[in-house]
Amino acid sequence: MWKEPSAGIALADADQTAGPRLPEPAVVASVEPGSIAEELGFQPGDRLLSINGVRPRDLIDFQVLQGEEELTLEVEDPDGSLHVVELEKDADDSLGLGFTEALFDGLRQCNNHCPFCFIDQQPPGRRRSLYLKDDDYRLSFLYGSYLTLTNLTATDWQRIEEQRLSPLFVSVHATEPELRSRLLVNPRAALLGEQLSWFAERRLQIHAQVVVCPGLNDGEALTRTLTDLAGHGAGDWPAVLSAAVVPVGLTRFRPAGDALRPVTPADARAVIERVEPLQRTFAASLGSRFAWLSDEWYLIAGLPLPPRASYEDLPQQENGVGSIRAFLEQLDAATASLPQRVSPPRRYSWVVGRLVAEALQPVVERLNAVEGLELLLHGLPSPYWGQDQVVTGLLTGEDLLTGLAGRDLGDGLLLPRVMLRAGEEVFLDDLRVDELRRRLPVPLHLIGGAEDLVAACLSASMRGAYP
Ligand code: SF4
Repeated sequence: MWKEPSAGIALADADQTAGPRLPEPAVVASVEPGSIAEELGFQPGDRLLSINGVRPRDLIDFQVLQGEEELTLEVEDPDGSLHVVELEKDADDSLGLGFTEALFDGLRQCNNHCPFCFIDQQPPGRRRSLYLKDDDYRLSFLYGSYLTLTNLTATDWQRIEEQRLSPLFVSVHATEPELRSRLLVNPRAALLGEQLSWFAERRLQIHAQVVVCPGLNDGEALTRTLTDLAGHGAGDWPAVLSAAVVPVGLTRFRPAGDALRPVTPADARAVIERVEPLQRTFAASLGSRFAWLSDEWYLIAGLPLPPRASYEDLPQQENGVGSIRAFLEQLDAATASLPQRVSPPRRYSWVVGRLVAEALQPVVERLNAVEGLELLLHGLPSPYWGQDQVVTGLLTGEDLLTGLAGRDLGDGLLLPRVMLRAGEEVFLDDLRVDELRRRLPVPLHLIGGAEDLVAACLSASMRGAYP
């Protein structure tokens, strides 16, 4: 359940030793042009102390509070002077304020000790946000990060119910209580069954995730987990909306003797053979395949990815389920009217993780059918993590410098943004894009989705001094 809080989601001081603290004032980062806040004279740097006498704990509280029609805002200027602003507005009018923090009372970190935790498998000395063990139900609700439910207090449960914080995204790993406790190294993990019933009784919903560690929670344990989750997946308002099954990621920095082993092609085939029949059963009983295998299973197994239609509405795309099929589908749209030729001729390179390179080869072939365009695909391993078969999002700056050295990069390099921290141009090893630009022999262009890729290929600008 590793997801670094993105640069756009600044977090209040995350000292977890003291538990949740009193909310700090919400510091204004942006004021929407033409908004009520602009009319009132709000400026970045202003500190919102309270709304109608209540100090918001986070963005959720702020959203709820600003929904009132009559507001009394207590605001502190950067120079320390206090103002009280009273206003009336329609209930659905937003104030138009953005804040530097999502959480004004600190991040709830996890109280588990999973041996497969990716955060513990990093080298020391990188940026602080990489070591935050986010297990905060507010971020799960706001941004879809996974949580385990093991650190919630009675007040938190009450708040989830009262504010209808749904759906949440829950790392399950196993439903058998003793096994889940062992995987999370936390006796509180055994309470999941009761917690699922709690969600069901209140008509609140979750998406689930199972990180499979071969020899620990695969085999019969995985069947039981998915069957138990599917037991909450029926009806008009299912408590469990979907369950993603993803392989454990292990790095060379993990401690010796952790009893874990990487997923082999045979493991991947065994998991696919176990889950696909369950998908058919669930499709018949629930009307949805419900349990979703991430793309990595098929890539590791060396098997073709399922067709796009089998992923329904891609409920677990953020978890790497159907992402490649979705990308290929976007590419179909983006290449629907390709020119027959481009002029002047150009040769560009595109770098991706070695695990996904083969699946993306059809994209390269389609683009290379355009006369005058040559796209060179480089699927790289990650010596940084010690992974030969790696997904694109885990490639670091160091991996790029090592892997691309001496290769033919053509007139310019297309670099997927997924390798960077969201909202910032920095790789997982803290190398900055500017530094990479300085050290590469060709211009570099950041790309997002399929449209970006096609537009960059059709553009001649990288032949010159692309920024
Ligand atoms: S210890 Fe477990 S629950 Fe906590 S962040 Fe790591 S993987 Fe997630």
